[in-house]
Amino acid sequence: MIEFQSVCKRYPGHTALDSLDLQCRTGETTVIIGPSGCGKSTLLRLTIGLIAPDTGRVLIEGRALSRQNVQAIRHRTGYLVQEGGLFPHLTVMANLTLLVRHLGWSKTRIEARVDALSELARVSPALLDRYPAELSGGQRQRVGLMRALMPDPDLLLLDEPLGALDPMIRSQLQDELSEIFSTLGKTVMLVTHDIAEAAFFADRIVLLRDGRLVQAGSLVELVDHLAHPFVTEFISAQRRPLEALLAATQ
Ligand code: ADP
Ligand code: MG
Repeated sequence: MIEFQSVCKRYPGHTALDSLDLQCRTGETTVIIGPSGCGKSTLLRLTIGLIAPDTGRVLIEGRALSRQNVQAIRHRTGYLVQEGGLFPHLTVMANLTLLVRHLGWSKTRIEARVDALSELARVSPALLDRYPAELSGGQRQRVGLMRALMPDPDLLLLDEPLGALDPMIRSQLQDELSEIFSTLGKTVMLVTHDIAEAAFFADRIVLLRDGRLVQAGSLVELVDHLAHPFVTEFISAQRRPLEALLAATQ
């Protein structure tokens, strides 16, 4: 569904993405993982056309992303930016319903959808009248997630969607999101820097480093056929804190 062909994105003095070739298949969850600054968020911004590649192409369903089709693609895409990206001057309710009102949804349909998603994301109805500044970081992130899911999009771009959540809610939401992704056949690109979360969601894991694709495949493929010492390093660096914790509790 989404294809990156030799995509380069440079900033002054820095290459954020370097000759990236990648395909994300329809109905699959592709998890983008890698250290901070490796280009994960840049990849999502390119997919939704917030920035354009310097060279190379981004294709959605075989068509190059362009000024003509970017709006239509945004309307069928749920995008959660890393920091939540809520409009500070709008209440939670107004943030959630902005796009679907624009798309002409009826009041009844909007209310039913808000109810269903509030339950899913454990956002109490009392929060709907608040402004983003009156929410905790975790609440803002859950509202951001609700907003991304609101139009029931077939494409979801989620930038560290569970990063700010406490472990209990995080694991509950992981289960529910994974069910949404698979039963509703969504095409998902999900960014995380957590290997366990990547393993949980991914049909395919894409490991980036310094703007380059190091390896792509299922977790088993990554572990069985380590393409680069960096993959081993990255995986074992993530295992270490967990193992230390387990050892300490024994
Ligand atoms: P991450 O993997 O942490 O999400 P990003 O995709 O946000 O990384 O950024 C990749 C690299 O590009 C980083 O080194 C970042 O500093 C740089 N970068 C991203 N956006 C900009 C920008 N607008 N201007 C300059 N540098 C940028
Ligand atoms: Mg990022």
